[in-house]
Amino acid sequence: MSVRTRFAPSPTGYLHIGGVRTALFNWLFARQHGGQFILRIDDTDTARNIDEALEPILEGLRWLGIDWDEGPGVGGPYAPYYQSQRSDRYAAAVEKLLASGHAYRDYATPAELDEERAAAQAAGKPFLYSRRFAAFDEATSARYASEGRAGVVRLKMPREGVLVIDDAVRGRVEFAWEREQDHVIQRADGSCLYHLATVVDDHDLAISHVIRAEEHLSNTPRQAFIAQSLGYPLPTFAHLPLVAEPGSRTKLSKRKLDKYLKNQDFKQIMEHGLKIAERIGLAPEADTFNPVIVDFYREVGYLPWAIDNYLALLGWSFDDKTEYFTRDDLIRCFTLDRINSSPASFDPKKLWSMQDTMMVALPVDEKLQLMLPFLVRAGLLTDHPPADAVETVRRVIEAAGDRLKVAGDILIYADFFLVDEPVMDEDAVAKRLAKAGTKPLLQTYAAAIEKLDAFDTASLEAALKQVVADAGLKVGDLVHAVRVAVSGKTVGPGLYDCLVILGREKSLARIHRALPLCADA
Ligand code: GLU
Repeated sequence: MSVRTRFAPSPTGYLHIGGVRTALFNWLFARQHGGQFILRIDDTDTARNIDEALEPILEGLRWLGIDWDEGPGVGGPYAPYYQSQRSDRYAAAVEKLLASGHAYRDYATPAELDEERAAAQAAGKPFLYSRRFAAFDEATSARYASEGRAGVVRLKMPREGVLVIDDAVRGRVEFAWEREQDHVIQRADGSCLYHLATVVDDHDLAISHVIRAEEHLSNTPRQAFIAQSLGYPLPTFAHLPLVAEPGSRTKLSKRKLDKYLKNQDFKQIMEHGLKIAERIGLAPEADTFNPVIVDFYREVGYLPWAIDNYLALLGWSFDDKTEYFTRDDLIRCFTLDRINSSPASFDPKKLWSMQDTMMVALPVDEKLQLMLPFLVRAGLLTDHPPADAVETVRRVIEAAGDRLKVAGDILIYADFFLVDEPVMDEDAVAKRLAKAGTKPLLQTYAAAIEKLDAFDTASLEAALKQVVADAGLKVGDLVHAVRVAVSGKTVGPGLYDCLVILGREKSLARIHRALPLCADA
């Protein structure tokens, strides 16, 4: 049997980290087996503009390299891949279930159902609908309808026995039928519910493995009942562990940002991202600029593979020790039976450290390609930057080395090289320039480097040491001042590298321009 998996997002306008983990596992499994990975859009319940709400999801998956063989944009032999366009299939399934007696039209009002529910509760029993207003034939239906009642279609669920599912992650799972309600599958307005739609689609699209979030485990009995009643073979189910909050077993939610920011590592990721967003002039939308959502990482410039690699380990492990995988290795090593069933807690520190390690290992040319667009977006480079500007950026990348953690960091390290006059940070000026005695030191250093034979890091360093030694001071008394004078701030690549990259002329001009900011004495 050929392996066909699917990821079935609803168009919500954002791609949740937990959703990516589901997509990734489906994708890995399909790729490993040479099968197909399908993207199906569960848009039956949405009143939103589908394209707009879907775009961030498609964009996020593309960025992460999770490509789909069938679905939006690529089509496929089982099109359409949007549930909103498949309603005739669902209607036909409802008719079939009604005809075979596995479903019935029901005309109970919400108040009548509430009454039964309350009675069951008072008796300390689980609520099971009496089927008092069930209509199994046309005449009964017509009678209820003539009373002004609206009819829904419910499943006529078994009330005894058990369903056994052999879940690829959880093993044998038993469900007692008596705990299942007669679930509604079609509303009074004729629209169908997700449970029916997903079963019909999984069958129509020949899905072999349904790999999905744990929260759908409890939906499995009603879906299995629908499938069996329609004569469909069941796919293999694999219910993934919950993606939980940092340090907890509760589901990670995009709405609890305030709570997560109390976690230092989470806060660090967020604040770092905000700093970059501010430089790009991105007005961070509270809705998507959130480390629970994939857009955040893309906008800040994480490496997509760092996210994939990290998420692969969220509930799965190869051998309990291997942490870094190439894409091919992961496709080769991934198996459903090594997925853990207990909640996998999102660990921002681990994600950050993977990102860091992968970024450090990335060749300079690749970093350059990733980082240039950030400089363009921030208006520091033009769309087609001149070769000398690109070369400057390359040298900044080399000089900044492992200080560049994400692609967006280039904005902090390269900005002052790419402008005529650096923006002088007030705090940095107050702390490093406006200090008594700084002005003559800077003047002496400027005079010394003006005369250097070779304007290289060794000579610049030797000259600085000489100036401070002659003044009976320490390196720290001058080095920070020169940095602020040439860059306007306290962070950047090593000072001597900065001077070399700027060149003698610009370095001197900037030092001279900073002199009036120094205290006079
Ligand atoms: N649209 C559903 C969700 O986003 C898909 C559930 C399933 O995989 O069956 O949760």
